Amino acid sequence: MHGGAGPIAEDTVPARLLGCREAVQAGWMVLSHGGSAVDAVEAAVVTLEDNPLFNAGVGSPTNSDGQVELDASIMDGAQGAAGAVAAVKRIKNPIRLARRIMQDQRHILLVGEGAERFARAHGITLCDPQDLINPHPRRPEQQHGTVGCVALDHAGRLAAATSTGGIANKYPGRVGDAALIGCGTYANHDSGVSCTGIGEAIIRVVLAKTVVDLMRPGVPIQVTAKQAIGILAEQTGDEGGVIVVNERGDVGYARNTTHMPVCWVRDGGDLVTDI
Ligand code: ASP
Repeated sequence: MHGGAGPIAEDTVPARLLGCREAVQAGWMVLSHGGSAVDAVEAAVVTLEDNPLFNAGVGSPTNSDGQVELDASIMDGAQGAAGAVAAVKRIKNPIRLARRIMQDQRHILLVGEGAERFARAHGITLCDPQDLINPHPRRPEQQHGTVGCVALDHAGRLAAATSTGGIANKYPGRVGDAALIGCGTYANHDSGVSCTGIGEAIIRVVLAKTVVDLMRPGVPIQVTAKQAIGILAEQTGDEGGVIVVNERGDVGYARNTTHMPVCWVRDGGDLVTDI
């Protein structure tokens, strides 16, 4: 699980790491009861969408019109299936809607009003747009916190999911990498990836798919994660972070920002966190 790349006010670090731990525990609960990787990443991401400290769901920054617009995507590596939503204003847990779109199989990405109509038709209650607005405006260094998760389940299936409120003061209708399969989220039989950072840069280097394409047998996954962030930095001059898990359960992560809270668990062992 990652909780977003970017500068983080030191006084919020413990709470952010705690949030990531709670999310990983929610995902692990699913996996340890025989649930699928897709169920696990959805459960973990919902936990942080509901946590106002993170830039996803409740707690997202507003656009230049003062509204919250959310992006999210999910990919099932075993099935090669994906679902995504962009610029939704009335969905408290956009990752749940992305999952529903994936299950429906007709489309991959729904945006704005159409996505919200699909939600209503599939039993997802719409919220008041005001409910997503953080009552306590953030300092700039607190505005990061896109969330993402990758899971590998008992059957060897990988899944990845990412959810965000995007970038503060964005142009209305702006869609970032978190809604785009291959950019913010990607999973196949061999690896799963979730990205965070400046969406416009991540899209230009198709970062999540780039990480997957860089994976080589015998090359440590951490080296590959760093290589991908090197490509992002070199080709765009911008900042971001990635988390990646392979089919053996190896974990990699890298960032070229000052912070990116991460947490993971393997085979029911201790939770590991880093910032
Ligand atoms: N990648 C997200 C976006 O550009 C923002 C973030 O990760 O902080 O929408």
